[in-house]
Amino acid sequence: MAKKKPVQRTVQCYHCENRFDVSAKAMTVSCPACNRPLMVEDVVIKTAHAVRKLQTCGRIVIQKRGRVMADLVVGQEAIEVMGILETKQAKAGTVYIRPKARWRGDCHARSVVIEAGARVTEGHFVVPDTTL
Ligand SMILES: [Zn+2]
Repeated sequence: MAKKKPVQRTVQCYHCENRFDVSAKAMTVSCPACNRPLMVEDVVIKTAHAVRKLQTCGRIVIQKRGRVMADLVVGQEAIEVMGILETKQAKAGTVYIRPKARWRGDCHARSVVIEAGARVTEGHFVVPDTTL
């Protein structure tokens, strides 16, 4: 039987922007460049969530009843909002603002998808942000 290769994916450190490979099953890792802990799993928000920073190398998904209030929100792969996001600054690969979602805050992303029915009440958008 052929041995299966472990599935790897490339992530980018949100502290120092170093890119490296991790196992697809990893949830948290330490960045080999800056040694700081990184969350790499997807974060799904189902309820109200007030934090200073919400960061992952994966995706942040804010569900319909979810609400995030944070100074900084980073989803290196993507941020998908179906509920409410209120932040000073969000950074993501791709931002999806779904119908009925509410967005307030600055946004730096490679691309943004705002669907009909979504509400963006405030924020300075930089798209594409090529440093991401
Ligand atoms: Zn790093």
